[in-house]
Amino acid sequence: MSLTQLTAVELSRQLAAGEVSSVELTQAYLDRIAKYDGAVGAFLRHDADRALSTAKHIDERRAAGEKLGPLAGIPVAVKDILAEVGERTTCASRMLEEFRARYDSTVVARLKAADAVLIGRTNMDEFAMGGSTENSAFQSTHNPWNLKCSPGGSSGGAAAAVASDMAPLSIGTDTGGSIRQPASFCGVTGLKPTYGRVSRYGLVAYASSLDQVGPLARSVDDVALLYQTIAGHDPQDSTSLDEPHALGSSLDTPLKDLRIGVPKEFFAEGLDAEVEAAVREALSTYESLGAKLVKISLPHSKYAVATYYVIAPCEASSNLARYDGVHYGYRADQATIATELAAERAALEEAGERRAAQNLDSVLVRMYRKSRSEAFGPEVKRRIMLGTYALSAGYYDAYYLKALKVRRLIRQDYDQAFEKVDVVAGPVAPTPAFELGSLTDDPLAMYLVDLYTVSANLTGIPALSLPCGISKSGLPIGLQLQAKPLAEDTLLRAGKMYQTATDWHNRRPPL
Ligand code: GLN
Repeated sequence: MSLTQLTAVELSRQLAAGEVSSVELTQAYLDRIAKYDGAVGAFLRHDADRALSTAKHIDERRAAGEKLGPLAGIPVAVKDILAEVGERTTCASRMLEEFRARYDSTVVARLKAADAVLIGRTNMDEFAMGGSTENSAFQSTHNPWNLKCSPGGSSGGAAAAVASDMAPLSIGTDTGGSIRQPASFCGVTGLKPTYGRVSRYGLVAYASSLDQVGPLARSVDDVALLYQTIAGHDPQDSTSLDEPHALGSSLDTPLKDLRIGVPKEFFAEGLDAEVEAAVREALSTYESLGAKLVKISLPHSKYAVATYYVIAPCEASSNLARYDGVHYGYRADQATIATELAAERAALEEAGERRAAQNLDSVLVRMYRKSRSEAFGPEVKRRIMLGTYALSAGYYDAYYLKALKVRRLIRQDYDQAFEKVDVVAGPVAPTPAFELGSLTDDPLAMYLVDLYTVSANLTGIPALSLPCGISKSGLPIGLQLQAKPLAEDTLLRAGKMYQTATDWHNRRPPL
């Protein structure tokens, strides 16, 4: 097996034993990026010199006998939505194309403190809005299993980077499925932690009550390693939970008498037959490992997509109000605006429309409008319009408030389910990866892909995506496990049991 195919846990052992240096390892991943990223497009940027110099520094510190962090010398790719001091953080948007962060997000700071080698910044849907990574203003990412297909989204770059061995670990974010669905489409393992587990400080906000940062990797062990590095209380984020998150060595102990809830709503109309077969097969693997399957119902889950697509755009419309061309980000050219305005005014005055000429919007107002209209892509604008509409007087009660009430009912369904079961299982997405371009003209169809993932965000519970099969056309299929808030240990142990018994997570795309 080549170096870049090893898990981060194994790489960490080899680095500690002096069998490989971080410089060699980092170079091996950079070589993969040089060779394959032209076709895959997982990275928006990477800086080989910088990565190698960090690696060299870590090798030197190791040689000097210094105590190093848990990710010492291991490359990690970061979604381009987390601030890193001095670096560009674009969110794959023209709006932030030239934006350089003035401080490190807590997640980046923790990666640095863990002595990780930050190898590059991955592509995503603009401001994390989307499920295919096609909403990036800069490039589309291709699924390493079939370059004609989408890697999923919005963390498509993060998933594709791991799947194509261009990084052993990567950081994504999940507001409605953006870690789990790309993990599923690309055949890697991904965890959306409990809301509040991982700090959002320095994470560019999409929908603040739903956003969570989390790990993507080859295996549950690697996901656990990265999760433990980034999780934990942060006073800089007022929603951060002050709860212990260390997993200890419990991961290797299989869960005795694991009760798996199988909601009938997750196997209803719209689910692809091959996905259903693979997920059911995974459930029987669990049975053979001693787990007990329990039929359950999550009756309100049929409203989850509708609820999510009210709440997420509402929060987005509010969060994105800050991009006004004044504070930071893209600014439309004011000289052009002033010239246009003068011409319009002159024309109106000449036509004798003095009043209209006086009432024209000012350069400043035009500048706000033009900056936003030039720098935001169509999906972002759609969400801003949907959210602004749903929050306006007269509609607030009918849409936003109603959605909050349904959100509570969805959470109650889960609370009841978790009285009877330890985890809830089902598919991650209704189909394997779809072709690039096939859903771009149909936003509603794209939203429906989020059917099984948004509930975990609406309720705040943790959820894991595990590779559990390959379709006839050669595309990965994902199994989703969900657990009650703060039960990441249960989730990861259950995931580990599965990966000990199966080898779907070791499959590689035929790049
Ligand atoms: N596809 C969902 C959306 O577009 C989820 C995105 C996400 O989790 N960031 O909102």
